[in-house]
Amino acid sequence: MTNVPSSDPSLEARIAADPHRFRVLTGDRPTGALHLGHYFGTLANRVRLQDHGVQTYLVVADYQVITDRDLAGDLPGNVHEMLLDQLAAGIDPERATIFTHSAVPALNQLLLPLLSLISVAELQRNPTVKAEAAASGTRAMSGLLLTYPVHQAADILFCSAHVVPVGRDQLAHLEVARTLARRFNDRYGRVFTVPDPLVGDAPVLLGIDGTKMSKSRGNAIELRATADRTAALIRRARTDGVRRVTYEPATRPEVANLLELAGLCLGEEPEDLADRIGDRGAAGLKALVTDAVNDHFAPLRRRRAELAADAAAGGLDEILARGNDHATLIAEAKLDEVRAAMNMSYR
Ligand code: ATP
Ligand code: MG
Repeated sequence: MTNVPSSDPSLEARIAADPHRFRVLTGDRPTGALHLGHYFGTLANRVRLQDHGVQTYLVVADYQVITDRDLAGDLPGNVHEMLLDQLAAGIDPERATIFTHSAVPALNQLLLPLLSLISVAELQRNPTVKAEAAASGTRAMSGLLLTYPVHQAADILFCSAHVVPVGRDQLAHLEVARTLARRFNDRYGRVFTVPDPLVGDAPVLLGIDGTKMSKSRGNAIELRATADRTAALIRRARTDGVRRVTYEPATRPEVANLLELAGLCLGEEPEDLADRIGDRGAAGLKALVTDAVNDHFAPLRRRRAELAADAAAGGLDEILARGNDHATLIAEAKLDEVRAAMNMSYR
């Protein structure tokens, strides 16, 4: 992996000084295959930290799929695709614990004490909850969506994670996890670690329609896409009518996003790429981005195809079973600590 500069140099320095002391937890909803936004927002950081020796926990957040929809869709298929994406990106199941939310009941039980520490008004004000409610259209907000930051806090706090690699859309949720950890510790004594976010090189990568790239919005370039599919998607990407390509994130966000994406793939600055493309316009820009993405992700895509062939033999189920067992041990130990702190140890 490249040495991705992080959003918080002091956190990076602390991790680099003693990586084995740190624990990472992060995850994804199994709503589809992972995309370039995941890669540059969080996945590259997960792999980099794992490779530095940081203990890594990755949750497949299956219960959270129904925060903003009625039916979860093809959960087994989506879980399978997401696992392949993570392994192809360099997550090592021998070192990382990959588990599913629904398979760890003790983790979910942490929700009850945590819910007692936050008001409904605080949850209603949460910007991530508001944005996700707006994105789910006219659907009434469910209790599960309203409490999304609290179950996410349980995911993070159960394993005493210090670091949570996420995209910018998750920062408000993470703030809730920090607040709940502090409130619990103040009320009952120190049980929870207060986690720090780590935002990747692309805090919010935009999709081909110019809004946040998301699995659910049909605007994503998936990690698993073929080179031809990638080219077709980038050809359709929204730009503007200005011929000369310039890097101006505030006024030309779609063009800037494509320049940033190519810059991340090539290890170059978006301004330099804009100068190089100059008057070749959107077509020149898109040709450059397509080659950059396809070259950068060719090794990952090759590994993914090999892994998919092996996966038919059931290896992925085994990885999850092992991860679920390990996460359950950790969650039960934390739940015991929570009950002891709350004076509930009378079973
Ligand atoms: P959905 O549309 O189902 O919500 P999603 O594409 O938003 O899917 P999530 O599973 O919600 O993906 O997010 C997983 C992680 O990836 C989170 O840390 C999130 O911040 C990060 N992430 C998702 N999309 C992007 C993006 N476009 N840019 C940067 N980071 C992203
Ligand atoms: Mg999302």
